[in-house]
Amino acid sequence: MDGRQVSSGISSTDANAWMESERAGWVEAGTLRTLTARGRAGTPWVETLDGEKLLGFASNDYLGLAGDPRVIESAIEAIRAYGWGAGAAPLVTGWTALHERLTCEIAEFEGAQAVALFSSGYAANLGAMAVLASAGDVVVLDRLAHGSLVAGARLSGARIRVFPHNDANRLDAILGRERGQARRLIVATESLFSMDGDLAPLGEIVEICQRRGAMLVVDEAHATGVMGRSGGGMIADLGLGDRVTLRVGTLSKALGSIGGFVAGDRRVVERIGQVAGSFRYSTSLPPAAAAAALAALEIVREEPSRRGRLHDHVRWLAGALSQRNLVERLPAGPIMPIVVGDSHAALGLAESLRGRGLLIPAIRPPTVPIGSARLRVSVSAAHERIHLERLVEALDAARPHLDRERT
Ligand SMILES: *Cc1c(COP(=O)(O)O)cnc(C)c1O
Repeated sequence: MDGRQVSSGISSTDANAWMESERAGWVEAGTLRTLTARGRAGTPWVETLDGEKLLGFASNDYLGLAGDPRVIESAIEAIRAYGWGAGAAPLVTGWTALHERLTCEIAEFEGAQAVALFSSGYAANLGAMAVLASAGDVVVLDRLAHGSLVAGARLSGARIRVFPHNDANRLDAILGRERGQARRLIVATESLFSMDGDLAPLGEIVEICQRRGAMLVVDEAHATGVMGRSGGGMIADLGLGDRVTLRVGTLSKALGSIGGFVAGDRRVVERIGQVAGSFRYSTSLPPAAAAAALAALEIVREEPSRRGRLHDHVRWLAGALSQRNLVERLPAGPIMPIVVGDSHAALGLAESLRGRGLLIPAIRPPTVPIGSARLRVSVSAAHERIHLERLVEALDAARPHLDRERT
């Protein structure tokens, strides 16, 4: 590129200047993102490129399955049998016996009629929205709904409305107002929220959606394998499967693999193959990723003690953090946000913990609302109690820093 004018009137040097000044704004706001390569890692230990070992509290590998020898073996075996890449989209030649089996097992695990697999949870949310919403409809989102639900809603062409986080009454009021005007109403929320770690009032939301004639999408990305007596997520645990239009889940978090899925009625799921671009026009998951997820799913079913251990950790750490007023409410699961507020302050706290051997990167806007930058602590069954104690000690030591920033 030599900076000549192109027909749009913007030259590439203009673009560079524009992005440079924008970048300066991000630096000033403390929201510039940079990649930090790490070395070898498992959960909970993460090696830096210098070989320093940090104790991590920031991964979504809630059950420690990403590094489980059985999951690894299963993936290796699949690579030997199927090769690494799937080679084509699922509707062409990218669909294998492993994908087929995983689909059936997830459906059983979720207690759902049918399941569609995607190459990521992000793609699954785009697909779920594409299937239910289009121009003329209204999608009503929880204010803290994941970026992929927002992206899916935007892509669908539907009008978007937002209700205050977990506020069922406001949702009801919005649906009441929109009902006469929209062709169809679609509500989307998460079950266990990704950055706040709290639960949606699903019983109330399901009731409201039924009363108002709205379809409902529930993203269980952080609940799959973690929440509910069998680990099948909140919808299955509450027995609400028949009253939720689509559930979205990921293979990339507690299941330690990569990929996403949508679960629901057979007719709704079949429509994904007809209309969802993120399914039709994207290469199928590597068969080995499906094999890894299958092995993980079996461990989730056969070893409930892992989930028990995770929830023991959750109870202990939730108690310690709330006793110290570090969390705003008692965490419902393994995600425990320590909200600092200012982005620079959150970076400072992360840095101070890093100096004590702990890895908990700051989560900043636009991932979370402006003024609510935080350390998002996440706990795993792979942690030991002594690791949790070390975290609490480090937070106590960083406390003066935190209190200064919060006032
Ligand atoms: C992580 C996440 C996704 C995306 O899942 P990936 O498999 O990582 O693409 C979707 N929804 C929520 C709520 C998430 O936290």
